[in-house]
Amino acid sequence: MATARDLDEQDVLKDFKEEFYMEDGQIYMDGNSLGLMSKRAEAKMLSLVDSWRSYGIDGWTEGDNPWFTLAEEMSSRIAPFVGAKPHEVMVTGSITSNIHQMLSTLFQPTAERSVILVDELNFPSDIYAVESHLRLRGLNPEIAMRKIESRDGYTLELEDILEKLTEDVSIVLLPSVLYRSGQLLAIREITEAAHEKGILVGFDLAHSIGAMPHRLHEDGVDFAVWCHYKYMNSGPGGTGGLYIHERHHQLLPGNAGWFGSDKTKQFDMTHQFSKAEGAGAYQIGTPNIFSMAPLLGSIEVFEEAGISRVREKSLQLTLALRKGLAAGVPELTDVTPEQDEDRGGHIALSHPEAARICKALKAEGVVPDFRAPNIIRLAPVALYTSFEDVERTVKILEMIMNEELYKNYSNERNVVA
Ligand SMILES: *Cc1c(COP(=O)(O)O)cnc(C)c1O
Repeated sequence: MATARDLDEQDVLKDFKEEFYMEDGQIYMDGNSLGLMSKRAEAKMLSLVDSWRSYGIDGWTEGDNPWFTLAEEMSSRIAPFVGAKPHEVMVTGSITSNIHQMLSTLFQPTAERSVILVDELNFPSDIYAVESHLRLRGLNPEIAMRKIESRDGYTLELEDILEKLTEDVSIVLLPSVLYRSGQLLAIREITEAAHEKGILVGFDLAHSIGAMPHRLHEDGVDFAVWCHYKYMNSGPGGTGGLYIHERHHQLLPGNAGWFGSDKTKQFDMTHQFSKAEGAGAYQIGTPNIFSMAPLLGSIEVFEEAGISRVREKSLQLTLALRKGLAAGVPELTDVTPEQDEDRGGHIALSHPEAARICKALKAEGVVPDFRAPNIIRLAPVALYTSFEDVERTVKILEMIMNEELYKNYSNERNVVA
């Protein structure tokens, strides 16, 4: 059987680890929450700071990366990572602000069809956005927001999703990968079934972009939103992204602003809004140049690595991790779906002492991620995690559980993690 060392030697992505900053000896398993900084992301960030210093106002149109078209240029490079046409993607906003923009653009409630369907396991911000949007439209979220329920508290059954796609639903908004359990939903099946009922489909790709390939256009998905600071390694608060299928591009943005203008007319300064042709129309104000800059460097890393190879290695790493854990630490319950096609880039473990175990892991040099009340998430990110790192993580967890080291830590929660 191949050892972890053999697998590392054969690994075609192994050299990328050198591109990332990490503490000596540390194993970083939290790239699904905040990806590490790469040298190229840092360099692009510094280069854009330089462009401000050198050009002042002229930086909008001069230098290596003129700011006026920076978001558009990055969008066409992000498009392949979500399986979209270049004009269907825009690097802008945050997940939450992009949900607001997509709902205000696409949600057209009628007396017969006014429900937004979500799931009870989704990330709170997505739910807050939907609720507040419904209230703005004069609808009562208690009635107009409906939730798909989970049978086990961790995953959703396709059957339960399909059953909730009824004729009174206008939009269904779901995560591609559930942030807690790491379950990957059947994007194409859900989209096709929803379309048969006249329902628009949106996905939140927070936990899949940068971890696996997508084919949003081919699958017919109506819209999607995501951030780049998780697997895409664009840094804290890095600008997010949205996708809107070209069949909707005639729609005026629900929340309009001058950066949604046709670029050739933006500086005419008239009060007549000239909508940009593609997804650019759904930008609002001046792009956050410095929050986009690191992405310019990190996209390059992904372009070289290739997203299919990233996914392939990620599946191997997570499989090695869960096999090691099942053998060595069976008291941690693995709640991530079994099949490769049903899971994303992390493994979720449930245990009543999850909070204390995470503290012990950190003290032993493994950075995990805790999700209240009882989940430990471990994301062995393909670009900077080796098979030996995975093996060592398993050993450390075994030691923590066998020697009950977690009892040395309090159950109190920190603000983040
Ligand atoms: C990370 C994450 C968010 C965060 O939203 P921001 O607007 O980028 O702060 C929202 N939804 C999901 C599913 C997430 O995983």
